[in-house]
Order: sequence, then C-alpha cells, then structure tokens
Amino acid sequence: MSFTSYMSIALEQARAAAARGEVPVGAVIVAADGTVVAQAGNRTRELNDPTAHAEVLAIRAACAAAGFERLGGHALYVTLEPCAMCAAAISAARLARLYYGASDPKSGGVAQGARVFSHAQCHHAPDVYDAIAAAESEELLKTFFAAKRKG
Ligand SMILES: [Zn+2]
Repeated sequence: MSFTSYMSIALEQARAAAARGEVPVGAVIVAADGTVVAQAGNRTRELNDPTAHAEVLAIRAACAAAGFERLGGHALYVTLEPCAMCAAAISAARLARLYYGASDPKSGGVAQGARVFSHAQCHHAPDVYDAIAAAESEELLKTFFAAKRKG
C-alpha cells in the first residue's frame, strides 16, 4: 500500500467520526512491514474524554496490541495536523514517521503553535510529511462545522 491508501483509511475513520457527531479526524498506525495495526477516529464526546483524539486512541490501541509502550519503526497517518497533546504522545510513543493532511491554524502543534517537535525538551521527533490528502481532510472538517452552525 502507498501512503495515499493509508491516508484513505484515515479519511474513512474521519467520516465515521463525523457520522457519530464527533469532529471528523481519523488516524491510522502502520508497522514497519506495512501492516495496519490500529485505526481510530475522534471519540471525545462519546467517551466524555477531552484526550480521546484520533491519534491518542490509535496509539493506545497499537501499544495495547504490541504489548509495549513504544512504537519505534511505525508510522502514524492522521487527517489533521496533530495538536500539542497528540504531538507529545507521538513523541513519547517514538513513532518514526508522521503523515498528516490538513494544517490546523486553530489547534495545530506541529508546524505552528507549540511546535512540539522543535524543542530541546522533545526527546524524539518523527520525520514529518504534511499536506497528504489535505484537500479531502479540509473539506470534511468544513462540511462538518458548516452543518453544525446551521443545526
Ligand atoms: Zn490532538
């Protein structure tokens, strides 16, 4: 599979999140051999948990499956630029690569805002690839928030 097909799985998770009334963000974690080991969408409302972002849920699931607290060699695909909390979790999990879609001027913590990976106190920074299927990710978010304003 290519990085676009992994991102399409993340987009599916984002659409499923929107269908549950959650902010449409989806994440996928892929092992070094290309196996998808976890996928998740936002569940903050369903779980009454402000930390239940797609990236955090995917990291928890992948670590639980691996029986290990780190995901070295793994890649995380997410439809939106991670927030500072998720970026810190990505660093703590030692993920090797981060691919994300839309940039997030409001809450992003990778290329803007806290820029978590650029600090000396960040002990592991993944290789970052942005703007993967960004237009589709952005469209999902725009549609979701436009519908919310109407409702
Ligand atoms: Zn987050």
